[in-house]
Amino acid sequence: MKKIQMVDLKGQYNQIKDAVDASVLEVLDSTAYINGPKVHEFQKNLEQYLGVKHVIPCANGTDALQIAMMGLGLKPGDEVITADFTFAATVEVIALLQLTPVLVDVNETTFNIDIEAIKKAITPKTKAIVPVHLFGLCANMEAIMEIAEEHDLYVIEDNAQGIGANYTYSDGKKAKSGTIGHVASTSFFPSKNLGCYGDGGAIFTNDDDLAHTIRGIVNHGMYERYHHDVVGVNSRLDSVQAAILDIKLKQLNTYNKRRQDAARAYNKAFKDQEHIVIPIGRDVCSGICDTCDCHVFHQYTLRILNGTRDGLVKHLNENGIPCGVYYPIPLHLQKAYKDSRYNEADFPVTNQLAKEVISLPMHTELDDDQIEFITTTVISFVNA
Ligand SMILES: *Cc1c(COP(=O)(O)O)cnc(C)c1O
Repeated sequence: MKKIQMVDLKGQYNQIKDAVDASVLEVLDSTAYINGPKVHEFQKNLEQYLGVKHVIPCANGTDALQIAMMGLGLKPGDEVITADFTFAATVEVIALLQLTPVLVDVNETTFNIDIEAIKKAITPKTKAIVPVHLFGLCANMEAIMEIAEEHDLYVIEDNAQGIGANYTYSDGKKAKSGTIGHVASTSFFPSKNLGCYGDGGAIFTNDDDLAHTIRGIVNHGMYERYHHDVVGVNSRLDSVQAAILDIKLKQLNTYNKRRQDAARAYNKAFKDQEHIVIPIGRDVCSGICDTCDCHVFHQYTLRILNGTRDGLVKHLNENGIPCGVYYPIPLHLQKAYKDSRYNEADFPVTNQLAKEVISLPMHTELDDDQIEFITTTVISFVNA
């Protein structure tokens, strides 16, 4: 059996090596290292893939979120509601812009922002909601857009983990994640579903005016050379990364399908286990059923119900199976984001998940033998 890795970037690179190497060399030879034609080509191809009017490439996913919020003109003191159970970047940029983060609990089945908790958190100062498509599963966008419309709020999708997922509306209509809110951000960090070989990110929107504003913000607030109309930042995707991304974009559906295949195999092994909850639950749609395609499994995350999660992490590591705990500490308990307004009783699910979740190896190169070894090792430990 091949050595098991959490993410197998080398195995994936080997399959596209010739195309990637040629394209990177072409960029090196062109010397158009910043804002070269490759960046524009990738941008156009990603717009077409997503079915969105504007993609604005930038330096990373954290910048993308920050720039999206700057583009919307959010002001210090504006309240922004987001999930307590996510990567810290989401809340970090809210705080950096001196907006007020309002963390709310998540749903125990989907791990995504809880709709009732959003409703409870809305005040006259609320200006935006940031749903995160956590682990690759689309948040409940239909309900979120409805709340946003009712209260006149912006919706900023953090799509760093969800690129390529098809959100399915209750009437069966589909849209790509990141094209439903007013604006969305994504990350091309190497281990993301569409990853480059360094840092990268992008902002998506269907709003022409917002796209124009954002194109200036990413470039020092310039709309005309050396005329700085707004305070901007320097955030660029370089041409080498765009060249790699353009090749990998052609594989994205295949990559996501391989992740879904691995998830199906995991689900099959774990579904009847008493102490294990599979994503996204036992009796509900798995996100990869015949009628929907809402989950692209950036992570494959189980809940371990019988208190053996920490032991399992150790046991897997000892047996050559890497794993991760995303995320071990709820954001509202992090030193940087503590706030006396928060009440422990408002975060029962996140507090519970932090103790129960474990993410297993998930990437495009997993094979049946590896999955078999992982699942039998997990099951025998949890039931011991
Ligand atoms: C990875 C990630 C980010 C940040 O992306 P970077 O490119 O690393 O800055 C933001 N939000 C979520 C949910 C992420 O997973």
